[in-house]
Amino acid sequence: MAIITMKRTPAVKIPHAEFQVDGQRFRVDELVWHNTSGRSFDLVHCDTDEVLTLDESFDKYPTDEQVASVLEEHGFDPEMEMCWFCKKVILQATAHRVDQVWVGDSCCWDDRLR
Ligand SMILES: [Zn+2]
Repeated sequence: MAIITMKRTPAVKIPHAEFQVDGQRFRVDELVWHNTSGRSFDLVHCDTDEVLTLDESFDKYPTDEQVASVLEEHGFDPEMEMCWFCKKVILQATAHRVDQVWVGDSCCWDDRLR
């Protein structure tokens, strides 16, 4: 018997904040599915609506390094910095400049740092 595999339609799509790399806009979409507690996260190229993680979505909000490696696979060249707090490699596109240092948005940024 054939197993039909097709991309299910998510119940809810939550778009996260857009960011720019190489002058192009990207976004992480969080997908909430019917009848399961699972969520998945896709990296989307906003200018073309192309889902860059079509083969394999993330099951957690991707780290900056995961986002960067997907962007590199698709020929983009994201600039990276190091988070001043946790020393992780972070995307400059989403990082926050505080005085002379960078703080990662997904790892350490807190609105109180504003
Ligand atoms: Zn950090």
